[in-house]
Amino acid sequence: MDAPIGTVTLVGAGPGDPDLLTIAATKALAAADVVFYDRLAPREALDRHARQAELVPVGKTPGHHPVGQDAIETAIIGHALAGRTVVRFKGGDPFVFGRGAEELLACRTAGVPITVIPGITSAFAVPAEAGIPVTHRAVSRMVTVVSGHVPFDTNELRHLAGLGGTIVVLMGVATLAQTCIGLRAAGLGAETPCAVIENGFTSRQRTTRSTLDGLAAAAARAQLSSPAVIVIGDVVAVTDVAPVKRFATVTP
Ligand code: SAH
Repeated sequence: MDAPIGTVTLVGAGPGDPDLLTIAATKALAAADVVFYDRLAPREALDRHARQAELVPVGKTPGHHPVGQDAIETAIIGHALAGRTVVRFKGGDPFVFGRGAEELLACRTAGVPITVIPGITSAFAVPAEAGIPVTHRAVSRMVTVVSGHVPFDTNELRHLAGLGGTIVVLMGVATLAQTCIGLRAAGLGAETPCAVIENGFTSRQRTTRSTLDGLAAAAARAQLSSPAVIVIGDVVAVTDVAPVKRFATVTP
């Protein structure tokens, strides 16, 4: 008789601090035979919670994908069909720019049972760690989370500039100058406060603050690099230092 089919659990790893896993995530890791993990998922969490599991890095760096998406899907499905308990461990929340739903659909198509454990997304947690609230009463009652992986088109810029709330950009370092110029051209104010938080929840966390007009130059001076969360909007001015100054703040 064939071995029974295993399972896949798509686990949100949170924003990088191993203490910001959910309890459900730690239980899934403890039960795993094999864990496929991303570059932004905290490796320390695996050392703590998945001691018995085989650990397979499938990390992606911007513009460089050592293991392609198809190969990841084939691998997780193959292990599950062989009867193993598979965890797919992805940074932040698996469904926020994480390609999590692609893996979910691939598993369903292959007849592999898959469950999802959400995670704390970097879109909100990284600004919070830098002391920036993404909403604030009487300042911003909406927050739009966008991917800057591909430059925004004129229509998108017009809508974003017209919303009047907070804009959070993930994967936006390479396109930062274009985003700033585009939002200005679409009518967002030159003095709109902005912040870029790099390497959230690591000892290298750094916040660079500027205005919309000054941000591209500030970013170039600071040699900003990925991963980073960009926050654009008046909420950035609500607090001008992190609540606990654990990390460097750059104020040009
Ligand atoms: N699913 C993830 C996002 C994946 S896209 C989530 O919910 O958080 C990857 C982008 O997330 C990075 O380019 C960066 O913009 C952001 N990011 C993730 N972790 C981060 C961290 N620790 N510090 C700063 N940015 C981070």
